[in-house]
Amino acid sequence: MYFTYERPEFDAGDPKEIRRVIEEAYVNGKEAAKNGKAADYIPELAKADPEDFGICVKSLDGETIAFGEVEKRFSIQSISKVINLAAALKYLGFRETFSHVHMEPSGDAFNSILKLDTVSDLPFNPMINAGAIQVMSMLSNFMDFEDLMEFARAFCMDEEITLNEAVYRSEAETGDRNRAIVYLLKSKGVLQGDPDKTLDLYFKMCSLNVNAKTLANMGLLLSNKGQNPFTGKYIIHPGYIRTIRSLMFTCGMYDESGEYGVLVGVPSKSGVGGGIAASVSGRLGIGTYGPALNRKGNSVGGIAALQHMSHLLQLNVFG
Ligand code: GLN
Repeated sequence: MYFTYERPEFDAGDPKEIRRVIEEAYVNGKEAAKNGKAADYIPELAKADPEDFGICVKSLDGETIAFGEVEKRFSIQSISKVINLAAALKYLGFRETFSHVHMEPSGDAFNSILKLDTVSDLPFNPMINAGAIQVMSMLSNFMDFEDLMEFARAFCMDEEITLNEAVYRSEAETGDRNRAIVYLLKSKGVLQGDPDKTLDLYFKMCSLNVNAKTLANMGLLLSNKGQNPFTGKYIIHPGYIRTIRSLMFTCGMYDESGEYGVLVGVPSKSGVGGGIAASVSGRLGIGTYGPALNRKGNSVGGIAALQHMSHLLQLNVFG
């Protein structure tokens, strides 16, 4: 953790210096990953190598800087919540989407049921399981998995995204908490689709196979107001990007979003597969992969690397 506001002398305009900082971030992340542990509540995720670590940084002018394990595919897990939200905003609009889910950080674990039962009938936000399941219930009425995967490929600028069947089966077999959430939403009369179909789509979207490059691409699309910088095509209306990035900032790292906001300060989304996608407005997309997680379910190596880069490259949205 950085306790100082002082930054070392650094020439932000020098590409060699930038590369050096990213390499340092990689080394720090790889070292920090020793303090984490791969998720095991979804048995298939426990097979990940906790020593794997990789970082990919893409800039809007087409440059890519990558270190470590950036090719290996892993399941996107909760980072798919960003894609689900984007699809809801694109096809249903802002007003309809937020008639069924709030936009408040919950301060609770990503899979918590507590406040859903005691405080609010609608889920707190789309970046936790209850909120993403609720968003999926809306999408399930007019999109099937093929449609969602096609949207994910466009949103992540990665045509090689496929379904990780083993992770999907493992999730479906052990996802009792998520089953509890979907039926709780149904019992309250707020769920917008069929519970089993909703959950099946939710599990499948969590099981999309991505790598650190895919996540950097997602960050880049968000940094470029929803426009694919290589084809010029808008995947989602630029007006929705502020909403998505705001929710990533306030809720994207679950109940660690506040601390991460202070220490890194870049809209990001993590997943228990070990990925983090981060978006530096108008500049960069960053993807990290490190399956060793902390107690909150966030990648230890990813956070350490992003903190280093944010500090030295001055990426914090608040300066
Ligand atoms: N599929 C996971 C779950 O629903 C996603 C959670 C996560 O990445 N934090 O539990």
